[in-house]
Amino acid sequence: MVIGEMTQDVDLVVVGAGPGGYPAALRAAELGIKCVIVDSKPKPGGVCLHEGCIPSKALLHAAEAIDSAATASTFGVKFGQPEIDVNQLRAWKQGVTDKLSQGIVGMCKSAGVEIIQGKAIFEDSRTLRIEGGAEGAPARIKFKHAILATGSRPVTLRDLSLTSKRLLDSTGALALEDVPASLLVVGGGYIGLEMGTVYAALGSQVTVVEMTDGLLPGVDRDLVRPLANHLQQRFKSILLNTKVTAVKETKDGLTVTFEGKDAPASATFEKVLVAVGRRPNSDGIGLEKTQVEIDKFGFAVVDEQCRTRDKRILAIGDVSGQPMLAHRATRQGIVAAEVLAGLPSAFDNRAIPAVVFTEPEVAWCGLTDNEAKAQAITVGSAKFPWSASGRAQTLASAAGQTKVLFCPETRQVLGVGIVGPRAGELIAEAVLAIEMGATLEDLVVTIHPHPTLSETIMEAATAASSRLERQQTSKLREASKAAP
Ligand SMILES: Cc1cc2nc3c(=O)[nH]c(=O)nc-3n(C[C@H](O)[C@H](O)[C@H](O)COP(=O)(O)OP(=O)(O)OC[C@H]3O[C@@H](n4cnc5c(N)ncnc54)[C@H](O)[C@@H]3O)c2cc1C
Repeated sequence: MVIGEMTQDVDLVVVGAGPGGYPAALRAAELGIKCVIVDSKPKPGGVCLHEGCIPSKALLHAAEAIDSAATASTFGVKFGQPEIDVNQLRAWKQGVTDKLSQGIVGMCKSAGVEIIQGKAIFEDSRTLRIEGGAEGAPARIKFKHAILATGSRPVTLRDLSLTSKRLLDSTGALALEDVPASLLVVGGGYIGLEMGTVYAALGSQVTVVEMTDGLLPGVDRDLVRPLANHLQQRFKSILLNTKVTAVKETKDGLTVTFEGKDAPASATFEKVLVAVGRRPNSDGIGLEKTQVEIDKFGFAVVDEQCRTRDKRILAIGDVSGQPMLAHRATRQGIVAAEVLAGLPSAFDNRAIPAVVFTEPEVAWCGLTDNEAKAQAITVGSAKFPWSASGRAQTLASAAGQTKVLFCPETRQVLGVGIVGPRAGELIAEAVLAIEMGATLEDLVVTIHPHPTLSETIMEAATAASSRLERQQTSKLREASKAAP
């Protein structure tokens, strides 16, 4: 460090300590690259740990416990009404994230990766200015390479220019200040549905408003249906094909005006959560002074090695494109570090899993029916209903299904979709199958433990494989009949 100017010279600086940034720094350190991380927040972990994946799943766990207690009456086990201590729930959730954040600090320390607190702004392709740095932070960092891992932030609705404590984004909803009597969730995507599930279980009357004609836009409808049926019972109402046109603060709460065939003209809610998507953090950080190219959605343009158009800067995670998911960020972080170390690494994964942690969960990976249709790819498809699964019956959760998409010629597994409890855990097998280029028969001959929900993947593959066998035998029979 040059003391007077407080400029630190490093080989690699990682901007952002989320699930993309800190694994990138740890891998780089492991490969012998001297690196530092800069993050504007006091604790590492990013959105995922502090405002996203982890706190939402902690609260969803509480919601699941409440739901399980309620449904236990179907098999004769009765509990009373749950008593909810919001302060204790909030403190427990905070404890979970603090523990994990401390873990990251410990891992960085052992790896010799320094975490600098402050906002990093690019002055050029070699220099970062650190604004609002904590005590001892350098004013500038000169780097040979930088990995941009600045993540994303919630989109705000332009029409809702209101500032009110009753108007929340996902971060505000996760703070769990209280449990409002009524909550409107604007947006039927995964964040809106997960938060709606939490608040409905805690006792709020939840209404969801979604602009398109179904929940979880873009996800295969057969996977969404069981979830939509369940949420129809859990939520007060779900307004599809409906737009929020205005929000006004009144003495009773927020009065929201709707535009939609089946929607009321207006209604009043104690709180409103806006969960209509996220935008990349690529603005206001000086990237225009570098060669990094930003596309029309605000994402840094990257190649398979996570390199941007600036030869010194790589980009990973939410700031580098869709899908904005923590595990994609982590994989890219590792690829970026390996590329800088000269290893032949690439972000060329065939399947990026996606999980909606609602009750029931929805998970998918690889090709979906919607994508196959849009890209005119001919696929075979087989489904296994969970009503035929012994394990699902014993769990009183028979509304799920497992679907396998495959290439009819090669029988290679191309995609898997699952809806039902623990779908998020089950999908990992399907991701591995797709990465390994497994065929239906590979899944069929693999012994799955009984009775488990994992058998449904084998059963769906068996249904597909048997159908193909029957088609083949009947063709052979016809051919032999036609023979002279
Ligand atoms: C409510 C919610 C639930 C979610 N649930 C899931 C889930 O279950 N599974 C899943 O895979 N994904 C989930 N996500 C998405 C997931 O959180 C993101 O995909 C993930 O955090 C992206 O990681 P990242 O490393 O790219 O960036 P982030 O986690 O956003 O981290 C970026 C970091 O960069 C820092 N930063 C930004 N700009 C600067 C700057 N100029 N200088 C210094 N530091 C800066 C920020 O402070 C932040 O710490 C969820 C998101 C939300 C909001």
